[in-house]
This record gives sequence, structure tokens and C-alpha cells, in this order.
Amino acid sequence: MNYKEDFLYKPRHFKSIESWKDVTEKEWYDSKWQLKNIVTTVEELERIIKLTPYQVEELNKTFEELKHSGIRPMRITPYYASLMSYDPFHPEMLPGEKSMKRLDPIFWQCVPTPANLLFPNTGKERAMEETSRSFGIAYQRYPNRVALLVAANTSCASYCVHCQRVKSFEGVIDINLNEINKGLFYVSYNKNIDEVLVTGGDALMISQERLRYILEELSRIPHLRVIRIATRVPVVLPMAITDELLELIKISANKHSNGIEKYVYFMTHINHYHEITKDLADAIKKIREYGFTVRNQTVLLNHVNDYYKTLAETFRRMFWIGVHPYYLLQCHKEKGIAHFITPIQIGKIYIRHLQGWLSGVAKPVYAANVEGGGGKILLMPSGHNTLNTFDSLEDRISESYATVYTWDGREIYQYEALGRASREEFDEAVYIMDKFIGRKGVFLPKIIIVDEDGNHIETTNRSKLPVISNIKKSELLGYELNDVNMPLINPALIENELNELYKNSIYSKYGSSL
Ligand code: SF4
Repeated sequence: MNYKEDFLYKPRHFKSIESWKDVTEKEWYDSKWQLKNIVTTVEELERIIKLTPYQVEELNKTFEELKHSGIRPMRITPYYASLMSYDPFHPEMLPGEKSMKRLDPIFWQCVPTPANLLFPNTGKERAMEETSRSFGIAYQRYPNRVALLVAANTSCASYCVHCQRVKSFEGVIDINLNEINKGLFYVSYNKNIDEVLVTGGDALMISQERLRYILEELSRIPHLRVIRIATRVPVVLPMAITDELLELIKISANKHSNGIEKYVYFMTHINHYHEITKDLADAIKKIREYGFTVRNQTVLLNHVNDYYKTLAETFRRMFWIGVHPYYLLQCHKEKGIAHFITPIQIGKIYIRHLQGWLSGVAKPVYAANVEGGGGKILLMPSGHNTLNTFDSLEDRISESYATVYTWDGREIYQYEALGRASREEFDEAVYIMDKFIGRKGVFLPKIIIVDEDGNHIETTNRSKLPVISNIKKSELLGYELNDVNMPLINPALIENELNELYKNSIYSKYGSSL
């Protein structure tokens, strides 16, 4: 494959999947049909991917247990489900991407496995308290911006297993008109607010009437300059990005604004290049044709995109379809998803590796959301001072905690990114998952091992990244070096040779009359 011309991921055609072999193109590309045919059970999954009887049994047990604790286990649009490899335990990945040690990245993002019942100890930080800084649906962590939680946390078209907003049966906030009006009032009352994030759940999963109402009301607020719409719809349900919807957003977001128009942009959530398909590219093209910018937040996920080649492919491919990588976010530490977390130090090293190969606009800012309302803290590679005691990132790539600083100068000493477990709990978890996956060496969670008093003993799977030469990196990243004798970054290295060649080339004969 010439990746530059043909870089869009090609999923299985839906007609080749047992469940949808009789579905027409018209039905498949109808978002209402997609939502009516959401995949929620293991039985339905069995008709989409290959599962052994043991895996089926384990998934059923997991789903039952999650339901028992009040969590909706799974919800996947047929479109997003079709992105999974038929055998999610042996996916085909790019050369050099450690495919033998990989699981299907879409499967891991949308199907809860026994891993979701492991590692309940999330350590020191608590879950973000959405209501503690709220007025109605307005949630504020920064002086000039608020999030408007317009959609219930169960509203998303597909549920992400790594989601910080656990899909409980109760929901978090009752999104009724009174709460919406209180939020709108707050934005209009607080003249410091110049940007709102319209989010949920998923901002585009609410009714069009409600979306129109909210945007029109926002358009009346003179001090508001920017409206950001947070949605994963383009990724999991691209057929819902219709002209009708985009027209509605375009008109209502500026319906009552006087003078300079409000700037509207979309914030989406792409985590892996397998999500970058022709259908996504078409949806993004359509959004951009209406004049909206699209930015992306990627979550750094162990077992999904925790490798710099995967990150590089994901960022540059999204950039090639017109989506700007904006944040690479540290995964939240919540009960049941600790196995998704990658140590901060590893994320920093990946970002540093990517520096030379992705231009600034194609490379996101690495950050973590601090639980309890601290906001985002930057975790950039140069930030040696964010480590607690050690001077070299490379020597401490799997250290379990770091001292971090919030934007308003609060120091969080020993900010702990990873979950905790005793040695026995960890060994048992790996045993369970090796058996579920069917082979060893794939499930490699990074967990802080503690003794019975909670003292840190070690971090699991500490490994140093090898030293990688630039030539090796170019190979790994799929850059075609047509001439390996050419310098990668500095032509002056072969200046004498170039001068000779230049003298004899046609370029030296060109006139200078410009
Ligand atoms: S789309 Fe966002 S809010 Fe919805 S499940 Fe995924 S991460 Fe959570």
C-alpha cells in the first residue's frame, strides 16, 4: 500500500458480516437505522466477530456484573462495530507495529472484557465531580470558559469502555429545560465567559429542536465569542453528519449575533487510525464545507494507541483529512479502566519522538485532566521539572507518580496516574486476561504494586524504550527514504559535494533577472 495515496482504513464491508448481510446501502447509511440496530448483547457480537465459547461465557459474566453494579455495559453502532477485525484477538496492524502483541483497537475501545472488573483500587485521586462546580448544566473550571453538559452521559451513539463518564443507569445530571436555562443564564450573566463547550455525553445526540434552541440562545450573548461542539458522532456514526444538521448549526449559532460572528468549531475523539475511514473523511469534508474547523482529542490508551508509530499514524492521517490534533489526554483513572492507563513518562517520550516527524499543527498537546476540578495540566516532554525527584525522563519512564502544577499554580505532589493493586491481585488479573485473550504477553497493564499498608513497591511493566536512530524511526513511521545517502536534516553536511554537483547542474545556468 502506498500509505500517502491510500491511507484510509478499509473496514470489512457490512454485507460480509453475518448480522447485516441483507441490509441495503440505503439502510446502512441512514443514521436512524444505525441507532435502531445498536449492538448491545454478546449474542449480537458473536455474529460480528470471532469469539470462542469461553470468551462468550466470560463476556456474558462481565456484562452481568457490570449491570449488577448499575452500569450499562455496551452500546455500539453497527458502523463502528464493522471497524472491528473479524478476529479481534489477532488483528492485522502496520508493519513494525508489534501486531503479535496487539488486540483490535476498536474492540478494546467498545467491548467491556473481564479486565473491566479488575483493579478497582484507583488510589488517591477521586472521580471528577461534575456537579461541584455547576450551575444548571454549566460546569466551570476556567475563568473564561464553561462546559454546557447538554446531553445525558448515556446519550452517546457508541459507548467508549475507557470513558470517564461511567454510563450509569441513573445518569449524572437531569438535563431538563430548567437546568438548560439556568446554564444559559449563567453564560449570559458571567461576562468573563467568552467560550462555551457544548458537550455531554455527546452534543450531537440531542434532538435538533433542543440543539437549535441552545445555539440560538448562545448566539444572543454578546460577550460570547466561541462555541465548541464536542461529539464523537463523526467517528462512530458518520452518516448522522447531514446537511440538515450542519445547516441548523450554522444558522442557529449566529442567528441573533450582532457584528462579528461567533466562531464555531467541532471537537471530536479519534484514538486510532483504524477509525480514519472514507466515511469519516466524507463527514469531516462536509463539516469543513460549512466553514467549521474540526479539532480532536485523543486519549492515550494502553493496548490501543500506546506506541509512537500508532500515534504518528493516527495524528498525521487525521490531519490529512482535515482534523487538527489538539490534545493527547492521559486516560482518567476510574474503577474498571486502570488497565487502559499509560504512565505519563511514556507519553512524554512518545511526544518527544514525534516532534521531528510531525509539524506543530499535526501534533497535539499532551495533558492530563486532574480529577476534582483542577483542570488540564500540561505534560510536555520538556517538563523535566514535573517529575518529582529524578532528573532524566528516560531513566524513569515507568515511574508511577509526578509532581504537577495546575494552570493557576496549585502544586499536586505525587500526582498518581496509575491504578493500584497488590502483587497477588495483579498476577491473578494477568492470569485471567491471558486465558481470556488466549495467549500471554498481550495484556500488559501498568499498575502500581502496593503492600498491605498501601506503600509503593514497584510499577509493573517498567521498560526502557530502546534508543532509536532517526533512520530507524523513519522506517517505523513509514516515511519513504528514497535516497538513504541524503542527510535527514542538514544539507550542509555534504556541502562540498553539493557545490560540485550544483556547478554542473542546470540550476546554475538559470538567469538572475527575477
Ligand atoms: S463519546 Fe465521549 S462521552 Fe461518550 S462514551 Fe465516548 S468518551 Fe464517553
